[in-house]
Amino acid sequence: EFGQISLKDIDDAAKSSFPLCMRHVFEKLREDHHLKHGGRMQLGLFLKGVGLKLDDALAFWKAEFSQKVGVERFDKEYSYGIRHNYGREGKRTDYTPYSCQKIISSTPGVGDHHGCPYRYFSEENLRAALGKMGVTGRAVGDVMDKVKNKHYQLACTLTFEAIHGSSCDAGINHPNQYFKDSQTIIK
Ligand code: SF4
Repeated sequence: EFGQISLKDIDDAAKSSFPLCMRHVFEKLREDHHLKHGGRMQLGLFLKGVGLKLDDALAFWKAEFSQKVGVERFDKEYSYGIRHNYGREGKRTDYTPYSCQKIISSTPGVGDHHGCPYRYFSEENLRAALGKMGVTGRAVGDVMDKVKNKHYQLACTLTFEAIHGSSCDAGINHPNQYFKDSQTIIK
């Protein structure tokens, strides 16, 4: 419903069109070859929402996790959760990707990477992350002002606008909406 993405395009798409919450869990997964449950849910359902097929999702997670825990443990302990997200296990519920509201209200613990970075990053880390995304100059201060006033979705909207050089009048209320709007502009 939010478009399509294939495995080979995923790194490019992450750089150009993932909101900060998803870039962060994505980069941590690539770095650590592991994510705790909250991160797996947040990223996994987002990727499903952007149109990553189940087989590609299994290949994607396996490529990372097997470097950390081995293929056997991945198959035994982690592949179930991925199929579960796609409604192929358990109650066969087709789980929906998390909204900003849900992500912002989550409370990441030690070692967790999920949640909304505008809310839980330190000022220093957030400035660095914005720089990496290509937000520069006055836009950085504008984003930080929104963060200070706890307007996290507005901070994310300003980030989107700065990166894409285009207004986002509806505002950001869902990571998959961020992705879809971004793809519409850059394609
Ligand atoms: Fe993600 Fe929403 Fe936070 Fe943006 S405002 S980083 S899309 S949770």
